[in-house]
Amino acid sequence: MELVVEDAVFVTMAADAAPAGAMLIRDGRIADIGPAEAVRTAAPGAEVVGLGGATVIPGLIDAHCHVADVGYLAAAADCSQPAAPDIAAIQARLRQAADRTPEGSWVTGGGYAEYKLREARHPTRAELDQAVPGRPAVLYHTSLHACVLNTAALREAGLADGQPGPPGGAFGRDSQGRLDGVVYEAPMFALFAQNLRRDIARMGAGADGGLIQAAGRRLAAFGLTAACDADMRRDTFAAFAEADAGGLLSQRIYGLVVHDQVGAVRQGRHSGQLATEAVKIWADGGMSSRTAAIHGTYPVPPHGSGILYFERDELTEMVRDLDTRGFQVCIHAQGDRAIETVLDAYATVLTPGAGNPRRHRIEHGGAMYPPLAARAAALGIVVASQPGFLSALGDGFAAAFGDRSDQLYSFASWQRAGITVAGSSDAPVITADPLIGIRDAILRRTGDGRVLGPAEGLSARGALALYTTRAAFACHRESEIGSLEPGKLADFVVLDQNPLEAEPEQIPGIAVLATVLGGTPVHQAGDIFPGS
Ligand SMILES: [Zn+2]
Repeated sequence: MELVVEDAVFVTMAADAAPAGAMLIRDGRIADIGPAEAVRTAAPGAEVVGLGGATVIPGLIDAHCHVADVGYLAAAADCSQPAAPDIAAIQARLRQAADRTPEGSWVTGGGYAEYKLREARHPTRAELDQAVPGRPAVLYHTSLHACVLNTAALREAGLADGQPGPPGGAFGRDSQGRLDGVVYEAPMFALFAQNLRRDIARMGAGADGGLIQAAGRRLAAFGLTAACDADMRRDTFAAFAEADAGGLLSQRIYGLVVHDQVGAVRQGRHSGQLATEAVKIWADGGMSSRTAAIHGTYPVPPHGSGILYFERDELTEMVRDLDTRGFQVCIHAQGDRAIETVLDAYATVLTPGAGNPRRHRIEHGGAMYPPLAARAAALGIVVASQPGFLSALGDGFAAAFGDRSDQLYSFASWQRAGITVAGSSDAPVITADPLIGIRDAILRRTGDGRVLGPAEGLSARGALALYTTRAAFACHRESEIGSLEPGKLADFVVLDQNPLEAEPEQIPGIAVLATVLGGTPVHQAGDIFPGS
């Protein structure tokens, strides 16, 4: 089976930028790419698809997202702003969700950001009770570092007013000290995991692969052909494996296995579309929830200096152990205090200037200020970061970081220092749409229109590289994906405009006409390719 794709602009992202007019696909791989004449002559019997001048780019790669969570939250009430501008709108959406939520499952909403609400505060348990009385309801913050529970959910979760503050997190309280329903960090993660797990279990055999399939379809519509799932556990791995066996995966999935699940998840390359070779650790919290571990204190509630999940020695021991066992280690670190601790841990297994063969990573790296970036560069650390945070969460960052906010997510400086920066979304924390991330990597504009770190903007090509060649490197797959070159897998996206030529502001409006994985379309807006 041979296919020639032609009459298109090819943005190959290959190191040698030889112009191409056609691409030959054979057995799921790129057999040839170059001048149209030559490619067609090389395969006289091939089927030919003309793209009418559309643009072909490499399949996009999300180096850090939460695929299973995307599938899970796809079924929740959309309580994001501006769709739900105030608490009354959130209540209405939860009421509707209650009608379609099966008995035994919690009524679930997601996507709200308190600083975008008209009231500029978290909804309370009492407000959730008004919307959903008598049965459990949960409303997830867009950052997934906080949520609000109603009274029935608090009761089912075993949380009562007299409760002391939890380790690694916090409970919101009213003026009398009673729980107001807001839960931050560690207990929030536990709740999310429990709810996800309970609902996966309830779906029963066969249906949890469908949850992965639903997520994959969403991602494919954004042009994504590969994704790192940054929260792989035994049960979600089972769901991925089921989807893989059933041919339901629309991406190549690289699982970052949560550190305490390493023994519970089979490691290795399971198929061409499913691998688990890396381990995920959380060092601190999130920036918009002000739980990232920083030096100094936050100028805004809940104040404090954030939450560090591990002491330096403990983290160092974990890194040493995982490195010895051959794993790539990927550590969530947002605040400068957390990043420093992580670099200290990495420095015990890496020598400055001697490379980083396992490609140990920092996930996010928000407040990686210049001295930390210089250290990370010397150690060869790869950073999987999220340009799309700038438009979605940037105003919250500005409030939490004040005059240092221009130094957050300093992509241009990091790259100049020598760091490989991979693009990602952290979806469902924000949208998985990489075109939004590409725009934000160029423009760095927040929702309110402020530019964070104006000197840190990338070129369009540099922004696209984050989601192609750099992200491929971050998952040890640069010989297979990330650019359009002979021998690589035929993962590519057909766009109606060239993102390198478009006005940056217009990039999110570029239409994804088709997403092709290993030569097979996994998403099509029309009927470009046969056989889907
Ligand atoms: Zn994440």
